[in-house]
Amino acid sequence: MGTKLALDVDACQGYANCLIEGPALFDLDDDTGKAVLLRANPTPELQAQAEAAVRGCPARAIAIAVESA
Ligand code: SF4
Repeated sequence: MGTKLALDVDACQGYANCLIEGPALFDLDDDTGKAVLLRANPTPELQAQAEAAVRGCPARAIAIAVESA
């Protein structure tokens, strides 16, 4: 069982909090100014980063869901 991250690019306002909270999971597209999801299925080691990024996004553009195996 793992988790799956989803980024709503339309909702993203480019605050870049997710890059700070989850540098292994997110990048910022210099052209669009919006976040890019680098890894939709965070490893267990990256779980804390994923949850921090969800909490840290002011635009609520990141969702995390539990995937059943
Ligand atoms: S924190 Fe949210 S609004 Fe900011 S860049 Fe990341 S996804 Fe976009």
